[in-house]
Amino acid sequence: MSEQAIVVVGAGLAGAHVVQGLRAEGFAGPITLLGQESELPYDRTKLSKEYLQGRMDRTAIRLHDETWYVDHEVDLRLGTVVESIDRAARTVRLTTGETLPYHRLVLATGADSRRIPFPGADLPGVMALRELGESDALKDLFAAGGQLAVVGAGWIGLEVAASARQAGMTVTVVAPNVQPLDNILGPRIGAYFADLHVRNGIDLRMGVGARGVLERDGRAGGIVTDHGDIAADAVLIAVGAVPRVALAEQAGLAVDNGVLTDERLVTSDPAILAVGDIANAHNTLLGQRLRREHWDNALRQGALAARTILDLAGTYDWQPYFYTDQFDLGMEYVGNNLASDEPVVRGALESGEFIVFWQRDGVVTAAMNVNIWDVNDTLRGIVGRRVDRERLVDQEIPLADLP
Ligand SMILES: Cc1cc2nc3c(=O)[nH]c(=O)nc-3n(C[C@H](O)[C@H](O)[C@H](O)COP(=O)(O)OP(=O)(O)OC[C@H]3O[C@@H](n4cnc5c(N)ncnc54)[C@H](O)[C@@H]3O)c2cc1C
Repeated sequence: MSEQAIVVVGAGLAGAHVVQGLRAEGFAGPITLLGQESELPYDRTKLSKEYLQGRMDRTAIRLHDETWYVDHEVDLRLGTVVESIDRAARTVRLTTGETLPYHRLVLATGADSRRIPFPGADLPGVMALRELGESDALKDLFAAGGQLAVVGAGWIGLEVAASARQAGMTVTVVAPNVQPLDNILGPRIGAYFADLHVRNGIDLRMGVGARGVLERDGRAGGIVTDHGDIAADAVLIAVGAVPRVALAEQAGLAVDNGVLTDERLVTSDPAILAVGDIANAHNTLLGQRLRREHWDNALRQGALAARTILDLAGTYDWQPYFYTDQFDLGMEYVGNNLASDEPVVRGALESGEFIVFWQRDGVVTAAMNVNIWDVNDTLRGIVGRRVDRERLVDQEIPLADLP
């Protein structure tokens, strides 16, 4: 391998976009993309939505087909696990014992589903959702029908609950918060999501802590909660994700809630970058480190890492973005509000089509468009600006004229 060799560990959204960015920017040197999963890199966001609902098949969720990697001379190695990094020798070691040299290394190892070590968590029928096979298992469950208990009312818990309900399952969701997502969107908008789910037939039990999984015939038969038992045919644990930092820690890189990077995504070792869910990166726009587990972050950071490697301009200088689809709600969010920021609703929540701005000390910290499309770029231009509340709610004033 030449001096220039780039090795990317993790063939998920971010890793694939590093590779794509390198070739798009004209890099002609050797690239190796190493992925633990045996699937061609795919879009994980579909696993709780279109793929799970049977509206997209496994080829449709791929980021590229197999020939793309061949055509772009990317040495894609699937089913390949990197075990360790030797920073002094600039090599990575695979579990097969093979070592690969690198000139620059990119860590894009993503996140794992958070596990709860409560009784029964290992029983068959206790599920999580991160990988394609887990979405397949949920699909099989939907086909069999019955009752699903979901522990956790975050994005993935709510999306799977919606998909399960739409597939005809009886669904109970439990979480200790007062409202779903209230730790992110605040209680008022959290209550909107609660209403959406209840309206669509979810048995939503907020303020309820799960304490364990009930056993029935050697399988999960429901959950034990601090408000009594709930019977179910399967249990989905959806209580967040943890960054996969084992490799970085083993290599002695600086790690604190993810792998620490500067604004160019370079870690504490100048030869190693980190991108996507594992990167706790310095955001120059917000003047703070951020670790985001979102689709857009993986795409943009992948492209930025490629530019950094090629010594092209660019920094992590954008507002975070994410989206979700649940029942008939589709939304996009841009910004970085605190749950305690004041929500300002433009339009009527009851109409199902509205925009929420969050404000702190008169400054818009985030905005969310619900079932209103092609406005998110305009909202991005408003976030970070000081705008009077009266103007934000006045639908006579075009969005573009708000800031
Ligand atoms: C079900 C689900 C739904 C989601 N929905 C949304 C959504 O609606 N909107 C949104 O904005 N975001 C969503 N996300 C989040 C989004 O998918 C992630 O932020 C994104 O996939 C992160 O990309 P990544 O490349 O950092 O990590 P990943 O996509 O997780 O990829 C990491 C890859 O690295 C591999 N790997 C790890 N360790 C090693 C190793 N040692 N050797 C080799 N390979 C390794 C893993 O196997 C994995 O394939 C969702 C996530 C999930 C799980």
